[in-house]
Amino acid sequence: DLQPVRRALLSVSDKTGLIDLGKALAARGVELLSTGGSAKALRDAGLTVRDVADVTGYPEMMDGRVKTLHPGVHGGLLALRDNEAHVAAMDDHGIGAIDLLVVNLYPFEDALARGADYDDMIENIDIGGPAMIRAAAKNHAFVNVVVDVQDYEAVLAELDANDGATTYAFRQTLAQAAYARTAAYDAAVSGWMAGAIGNDAPRRRAVAGTLAQTLRYGENPHQQAAFYVDGSDRPGVATAQQHQGKELSYNNINDTDAAFELVSEFNPEDGAAVAIIKHANPCGVAKGTSMAEAYTKAFRCDQTSAFGGIVALNGELDAETADIITGIFTEVVIAPSATEEAKEIFAKKKNLRLLTTGGLADPLTTAQTIRQVSGGYLMQDKDSGFIGRADLKVVTKVAPTDAQLDDLLFAWKVAKHVKSNAIVYVKDMATVGVGAGQMSRVDSALIAAKKAERMAEALDLPNPLTQGSAVASDAFFPFADGLLEAAAAGASCVIQPGGSMRDDEVIAAADEAGLAMVFTGMRHFRH
Ligand code: 5GP
Repeated sequence: DLQPVRRALLSVSDKTGLIDLGKALAARGVELLSTGGSAKALRDAGLTVRDVADVTGYPEMMDGRVKTLHPGVHGGLLALRDNEAHVAAMDDHGIGAIDLLVVNLYPFEDALARGADYDDMIENIDIGGPAMIRAAAKNHAFVNVVVDVQDYEAVLAELDANDGATTYAFRQTLAQAAYARTAAYDAAVSGWMAGAIGNDAPRRRAVAGTLAQTLRYGENPHQQAAFYVDGSDRPGVATAQQHQGKELSYNNINDTDAAFELVSEFNPEDGAAVAIIKHANPCGVAKGTSMAEAYTKAFRCDQTSAFGGIVALNGELDAETADIITGIFTEVVIAPSATEEAKEIFAKKKNLRLLTTGGLADPLTTAQTIRQVSGGYLMQDKDSGFIGRADLKVVTKVAPTDAQLDDLLFAWKVAKHVKSNAIVYVKDMATVGVGAGQMSRVDSALIAAKKAERMAEALDLPNPLTQGSAVASDAFFPFADGLLEAAAAGASCVIQPGGSMRDDEVIAAADEAGLAMVFTGMRHFRH
């Protein structure tokens, strides 16, 4: 299964490593073929190169749209070397076999990242490149295809190990990677177009991404993992700058994303906000007159769980806040920016990672979320649902006060980011109890209240902070029991979607307990 490499076609947009590769191939007696820009670069470096235009008998034309789309090239890539008819066809038409194809595509993803306009994006769609890659990959029985600059060295090592030839297994590996590249490339094109023409129906989407980081391991040490980015410039964990500390892990990236998406719900013009996250659920979220106050209030919700947590800020990290955060072990801090003083304080904590994003994520932007299930993917619109004061319907005899409404809407925003079933108690714009991920709503209400009791004991408070709190439920109460549990914990007002068959029962129970309750008409399941 060894196949000698005698001729190579090099056609690359990213010229990194091209000259070295060309020299190394020439030194091994490989004849070089190349397209315009690549050929010029090789020739300028003193190498002997044959132009593809010479092979095809046509000049490159139409701004490079047509360069290599010709039987002279594709025949050389696709011909089966052990098939008499194929070999005869090559002879009849003067087609020379191409044994190695090195292509990297027009930088469509880079154009996307820099926000190029429509026409520019169209010109950045490579046609001949993917066509050649797919042809060479199909014919991996004989042909080697390289689509990644990082693989140049491996090809040379393979040639050296096999006296100028490559093994079948090696060519198979290259072909598999090649199809991954063309698939991701077309997915990026389709993803861009979906946004550009405003048609992002999940059923028409393909999954796109480029490898950003090979992770040390996945959720657990025995799982391999990698981080792919989709080229979006949305502020967040994928685009953030890391200032210190070791590489983020799989769980760090997941949790940091949850933290930043949550804190981005809070417009900095309305005050400082801080979210502390553990295992993708908030264990404290608060607003304050300063970042330091917001952090202190958030921390007070669940000091036990905050240990080893991820902290997200909706504004600049200042020295005072940095100082307080270093009071306990924290994995990651993410914020739009950080002062020099704050960075100096963090520099003393080697294991603490600081990420800055340059801004907040817009919670209202539409996007797709993807989840894998056995045998497929689930794709849906991101939950960008928003409920404002005007959307609320008071359903009880008592209406909430303005201050209660503030807490209710705050609790509602947090509940959107808590795994279902979610129950969130809020007092004075700070969570005071979070019940997450339970299989029954009544258990979430109970657990959140229990945790608040434990915090009250730890802080030596006369009463749990849930006394007089606002409570949010991410979906309707199917029975009155969950609501009664919240009332027993001291909640004085409730926000929930409504829409249960037993709404009447639940409203009657709220009236009986003297609670004010509002319906949102929208739910925020998060599983
Ligand atoms: P060069 O810089 O060598 O002139 O062009 C290299 C780029 O052209 C590579 O990214 C390659 O994928 C692309 N390419 C090669 N053949 C064709 C073709 O026939 N049409 C188009 N649109 N691009 C091509």
